Amino acid sequence: MTQNGAERKKFSWGSMRPYLKGGRVCLYTGLFLGLVDAAAQASVPMFFRYALNAVQQDAAAFMHGGFWPMLWLGAALMIVFLPGAYFFHVLSTVGFMRFCRNLQVALYRHVLRMSVDFFQRYRVGEINARLNSDVEAVVNAAGFVMTIVWGPALLIYSIVMMLMINVQLALICIAMLLAIAAMTLVALPPLRRWHRQVRDASGEVSSAVTEYVGIFGLLKAYSREDYAEMQVRGKSDDLLSQREKAAKWQNAFTDAMQTVTRFVAPLAILFIGAAWIYKGALKAGDLAAFWGYWLQLSGVVQGLVFTFSGLMGSVAAMDRLAAFFAEQPLVKDPENPKKLENVLGAIEFRNVRFRYPVSDAGEGPVLTGLNLKIAAGERLALVGPSGAGKSTILSLVLRFHDPDEGTVLLDGEPLSSYAQRDLHAQMGIVLQESLFFAGTIAENLRLGKPGASDDEMWNALDAANAGGFVRELPQGLATILGERGAKLSGGQKQRLAIARLFLKDPRIVLFDEPTSALDSESESHIKDAITRLFAGRTSITVAHRLSTVRDADRIVVIDRGAIVAEGKHEELRMSCKLYDELCRRQGVA
Ligand code: ADP
Repeated sequence: MTQNGAERKKFSWGSMRPYLKGGRVCLYTGLFLGLVDAAAQASVPMFFRYALNAVQQDAAAFMHGGFWPMLWLGAALMIVFLPGAYFFHVLSTVGFMRFCRNLQVALYRHVLRMSVDFFQRYRVGEINARLNSDVEAVVNAAGFVMTIVWGPALLIYSIVMMLMINVQLALICIAMLLAIAAMTLVALPPLRRWHRQVRDASGEVSSAVTEYVGIFGLLKAYSREDYAEMQVRGKSDDLLSQREKAAKWQNAFTDAMQTVTRFVAPLAILFIGAAWIYKGALKAGDLAAFWGYWLQLSGVVQGLVFTFSGLMGSVAAMDRLAAFFAEQPLVKDPENPKKLENVLGAIEFRNVRFRYPVSDAGEGPVLTGLNLKIAAGERLALVGPSGAGKSTILSLVLRFHDPDEGTVLLDGEPLSSYAQRDLHAQMGIVLQESLFFAGTIAENLRLGKPGASDDEMWNALDAANAGGFVRELPQGLATILGERGAKLSGGQKQRLAIARLFLKDPRIVLFDEPTSALDSESESHIKDAITRLFAGRTSITVAHRLSTVRDADRIVVIDRGAIVAEGKHEELRMSCKLYDELCRRQGVA
């Protein structure tokens, strides 16, 4: 699903021009050479014409006169043709590939500049498809771009030559070329359909394989490897039958075309030509030239039809990319952002009403006129039933979304008056599930402070109670994290995430507490680290486990997007039924 009318956006060459940067000269030079190449190729049948006609008239005179100049001219043409063809192909491919690279990088940059709502509107698979398959579809157009310049050039040169030799025979050839184009056009849709079915069936096989590899342990435990094999074999059989059908169609078409282009048409040209030679309306050399042109053009015409239809696929991909480029972040920086200096860290929600940009139709607002003042340096805990809107409050502090009504303020100024980059420099976040990219511990820590020294990192790790276990890792700071990296416990990951925040040293810390309890040792380590982290900073904790909120300066109870009570733990137990009930459910004293 898209917004901002982006789905109506169509691709236009004009909008693609900036991406030609660095490839423009290559591409245009290459394509120009394509014209030269086509001209050289179109002149070859003319050699036959002149040589044969000259031989027919006076063979001896030709051998002593025209033969050698023609040979030299032919050699000269070849010398032009070979490098011309090479640079035509290489330069136009390189130019086009640079264009594709620029396009992909720009697209990626564009996606990274979007606000959070974008990633909720588009599924990861869809973003992947745009960045990979659609760009790939454009890359595939490289061959088309060459054919589209070279093919028509060869066609035009050759037709002009044929018309110069003999208009009637040229018209007959053109009619036959049109017939070939029409036959190809008719055959294309079913051909495409079969190819698509083969591709779909092949996708089914690979996704089945991936799926069963993913649950290999489960299959082993139940000794049901045979089940997976049966499933994959079934999909493989489908693929085979699709391939067989496609092969039948494809070959029926190519062989029928071959019969026309290699037998029917040449023989027609030969018999008509022979009859005209007999009548004196044509010479043998002319006929030989027609035969040469026919061989060249029958292939070119088919190629062009394929190219145009292939290009339609690339244009469709370009359309989708254009729509993607037209997407705008809903959260924008102001024209003249205010400087963020000497931040105290006081946050205020003033009458904030908010509904997710892509919530299900009919779903009401998440926050309904929220008023909340958090003093600089205050340690605030948000509690409430699941779905009450606690995490949403954190998102709004980060300005991942803008409120529909009301304002969120930092030190008395609306968040929207600052640049998001400056704002985020003041904020640190620990998520329920600590996130790390595939890289070393040091690289992950430096996300908090680019260029941090080893000493700084160790200090941060120690402050987060993570120094101990990192020192025990054989690779220390160079330990690789991520999917294939070191296996750390949930508590260890969280402490690393906290160390990253110590490095970043933000004024405001947003902490989304994990829902599940950690082992008790981790728990006390983390509690300790958090106390240190929160000291002297404004902090907002979404507390899922109420045993952890007692140290908060203030607990705010949220229900259905509104504040129902606030105070200290003991007070709330007495005064707020909802809080008391939540505590009792969790067995908190
Ligand atoms: P809590 O943190 O209190 O459990 P949340 O702030 O996560 O609650 O969610 C509040 C409401 O907003 C819920 O009804 C949830 O379904 C909805 N919600 C949360 N995130 C999104 C989102 N990205 N898009 C649409 N609705 C959302």
